[in-house]
Amino acid sequence: MLASVYKIIEQFFTEKSTNLFPAKRKPASVSEFLARKPLIAPVPTPPDYRGRLAFDYQACIGCAMCEKVCPARAIEMYPVIEKEKRTKRIVIYLARCTFCSECVKVCPRDAITMSGDFMMADYDRNSPSLVVGLEERRKNEVAPEEKPDTPQE
Ligand code: SF4
Ligand code: SF4
Repeated sequence: MLASVYKIIEQFFTEKSTNLFPAKRKPASVSEFLARKPLIAPVPTPPDYRGRLAFDYQACIGCAMCEKVCPARAIEMYPVIEKEKRTKRIVIYLARCTFCSECVKVCPRDAITMSGDFMMADYDRNSPSLVVGLEERRKNEVAPEEKPDTPQE
């Protein structure tokens, strides 16, 4: 009994071992608080942590290797014109991603990387914050190439 009382008193004076997250004190409005960027991660992530994917539009050559290896079908390709040539670029749907890192490993141009950012909670699985490369897609996507009509027999 005495040992328990001692332990309780001790707890008042020892440093907290848990992190208050996502803010040190509860904000008045959690939605408004979460809309503010950047949020600070409560703990540092270890090296090689598989967090939010990043895509380098300029480095990509549109080879589609990442799309082929993705087990979650989280990568979608869309047509663009770069240097006067028709090619493709990608978007990555983080809500589908399993963070397996296969696309990072296979990319011949290191155009996909993984960051330490693990704060990806959102109400909408297709929200811009969960679709990597969406901004570039909006700027650069062109209409798909028209396929020639199949000859009728
Ligand atoms: S990390 Fe894995 S699941 Fe996620 S996009 Fe890359 S290949 Fe697909
Ligand atoms: S593997 Fe790399 S270069 Fe090829 S389409 Fe994917 S991101 Fe682009």
